[in-house]
Amino acid sequence: LPEHLQRQLACRRGNRGRFAPSPTGRLHLGNLRTALLSWLITRLQGGEWLLRIDDLDTPRNRAGAEAAILSDLGYLGLEWDGPLIRQSERRGLYGTVLSALRRSGRLYPCRCSRRMLADVSAPHGATPVYPGFCRNRVIGWGPQQGRLPSWRLRLRPGVLAWAEQLAQCGSLVAETEVGDVVLRRADGFLAYHLATAVDELALGITDVVRGEDLADNTARQIHLQHMLGLPTPCYLHTPLVLDARGEPGGVDPGAQPADKRLVAGGRRPRQLQPRLSIAQLAGEVQERVDHHLDALLPAHAREVTDGRGGRRVRRRRVAFQLDAVENHPHRIAA
Ligand code: GLU
Repeated sequence: LPEHLQRQLACRRGNRGRFAPSPTGRLHLGNLRTALLSWLITRLQGGEWLLRIDDLDTPRNRAGAEAAILSDLGYLGLEWDGPLIRQSERRGLYGTVLSALRRSGRLYPCRCSRRMLADVSAPHGATPVYPGFCRNRVIGWGPQQGRLPSWRLRLRPGVLAWAEQLAQCGSLVAETEVGDVVLRRADGFLAYHLATAVDELALGITDVVRGEDLADNTARQIHLQHMLGLPTPCYLHTPLVLDARGEPGGVDPGAQPADKRLVAGGRRPRQLQPRLSIAQLAGEVQERVDHHLDALLPAHAREVTDGRGGRRVRRRRVAFQLDAVENHPHRIAA
């Protein structure tokens, strides 16, 4: 990382969480659960919670998606600290890190263009391991047949392990389960892994909460973070929320008829079980959040003047389907 950021981070103390949706559409229930969990975990530790929009993969961005995300989070009462962060506005930082890695010989040019797309955008589920065709080849950096090479990170062999909050450590074998990852595509797009690994460090993130479909990518990201020489965050990969058809659940808050029943849980069938209706759940959450409001909200959000000179705790409307959170094997003590 650039020196000024390293210095800045050296002075940081305290917990920081983040929610990092891609603006590819509306948030579904799984995303919302991730947001709520991340917010709860961070707030319960008295930490700051950041909102980052992962909008580097511009062809996948959808008009209006960012506004819809902000409005859904607003509806849930999940306030973030500081300005909204967009990865598209941080390309300079990622480019600086990429150049430094390139100069240090950690990257190599690769011409295997057919694998590129699969490697680059935030992949959900198991990602194919790059077989290393270009690893030890001498390949020019310049255009060939009108194409530039992509740039891959040379992984050190061995086990890549990371800390998982409330669970055993995660670990993957670099050579057979991870492989050399593309950090810059041949068409110039910067990869999700580069931006995300750099951002967790540069933003001082201590706690990452995200779906378990992204767990495979954690090895790549922590490897990169180790190379950059800063402490890696602690991760929590939550089981996916699936609907009755086994697809990632696609409901947004308030849009679901109250009597619609959901099936929630992880990928393993034993975790699939019918849950309460949205209306019942919303009521439960309301109670729980009201009860814990003091602990959850930062002081500045909690105390507002009541217009008569006194102070009172701000009550906000919160509605959230807590079924998946409740169903999670590592329940949040509430
Ligand atoms: N933006 C990506 C997604 O929404 C990745 C999020 C993350 O790393 O937490 O799938």
